[in-house]
Amino acid sequence: MSSSTNRVRKPERKGRANPRLAKIHRSYTVEEAAKLFDVHRNTVRHWIKQGLPTNDGKRPTLILGGDLRAFLHFRRVKRKRPCKPGEIYCVRCRVPRRPAGAMADYQPSSVLLGNLIGICPSCDGLMYRSVNIEKIDQVRGDVEVTILAAQLRINEIKPPTVNSDFTRDTASDDEAQPRKRTN
Ligand SMILES: [Zn+2]
Repeated sequence: MSSSTNRVRKPERKGRANPRLAKIHRSYTVEEAAKLFDVHRNTVRHWIKQGLPTNDGKRPTLILGGDLRAFLHFRRVKRKRPCKPGEIYCVRCRVPRRPAGAMADYQPSSVLLGNLIGICPSCDGLMYRSVNIEKIDQVRGDVEVTILAAQLRINEIKPPTVNSDFTRDTASDDEAQPRKRTN
């Protein structure tokens, strides 16, 4: 009972697992990895489903410490850098950026979903961000968005959905209205 006093650990917040706790050359079972990072075993299984490599199919499942480190590190970096409004993720630079010229195209891929496409100001590559058209006002920030209609047949686009959404959140801010082009 007395031995437990200095073993009390604050519960780590989700996503805070410190990658450096894993020893690179050690292998961990799911249980050991869970204990190491103070998470539930199912969390470790979830990591495996998300792409954490293991000794495929063998029993017990073993995870290399180096793989744990790399996986958790990558995951942390990704979480730290979600796209803010007006930002699009550049795959090449691996960071969200404001598109060059603060301009982007919205290319519909279905009635509600599409991609914001911009040019990376740093590497000149194309940047993509998948967007639900109903959320575009939250996503676009002050980026000027041109809605492309070209690749969809007209009858696949529902103008009422688009229009009603554009007017909903912008009462206080007239210039936040994206320009809609239908050429
Ligand atoms: Zn880039």
